[in-house]
Amino acid sequence: RKGTPLLSVSGVTAYYGNIIALRGVDLEVNEGEIVTLIGANGAGKSTLMMTICGTPRARDGRIIFSGRDITSLPTHEIMRLNIAQSPEGRRIFPRMTVYENLQMGATTIGNAHFQQDLERMFEMFPRLRERIDQRGGTLSGGEQQMLSIARALMSRPRLLLLDEPSLGLAPLVVRQIFDAIRTLNQSEGLTVFLVEQNAFHALKLAHRGYVMVNGQITMSGSGAELLARPEVRAAYLEGG
Ligand code: ATP
Repeated sequence: RKGTPLLSVSGVTAYYGNIIALRGVDLEVNEGEIVTLIGANGAGKSTLMMTICGTPRARDGRIIFSGRDITSLPTHEIMRLNIAQSPEGRRIFPRMTVYENLQMGATTIGNAHFQQDLERMFEMFPRLRERIDQRGGTLSGGEQQMLSIARALMSRPRLLLLDEPSLGLAPLVVRQIFDAIRTLNQSEGLTVFLVEQNAFHALKLAHRGYVMVNGQITMSGSGAELLARPEVRAAYLEGG
């Protein structure tokens, strides 16, 4: 786990017009790690994930991926570096079938192992095989989330960015999805950066975590460490 991080964010600020959304964020994701970013609604978690992808752009600071400075690369070029994203709200193609959605994930890098990858996705999420010819928009929320993650994985990413995969889902479905992420990480060493409001599940899953408040990182540590801290429990786990 030591050495240079796969993703390194240092001193990053970002704005929406004149409104500051990120205030000097430092964060690292090492190869093979699951790292989570937790925080309240509006803290800036999604903004950080989007800034890593180039929109909105970091105004100060640096973002290094796999040894390369990507701070001022356009989004499409960042995506070509094998970073895949399952954004907040899932953003599957509602009028395309499950199969077509998965194709979209793969063709972005001209994947030659399409059939093999498809099979892996169906093993991980058997519901998607059952729904293969169904349009994305007719799937349940949980199935759409599975499709969004599977579509991102079809590009064989080196880094998977997940924004609130548990949002609006029943506890059982959340467990299925988090189990799948854990399995991918353990069996294939997939590196994951997970943004979550569901701090309990996220910290249980992640090797390390960061807490964001008002555009700043206020705490970091191992998942277990953060879960045990009274401040974290009081702010993010109470009642959860
Ligand atoms: P959530 O989980 O609810 O998305 P978050 O922690 O991801 O919360 P962000 O969505 O990153 O938070 O929002 C951070 C701040 O930036 C908030 O104050 C939000 O209102 C503001 N913001 C987000 N998107 C925009 C936008 N497109 N234009 C202007 N302000 C925005």
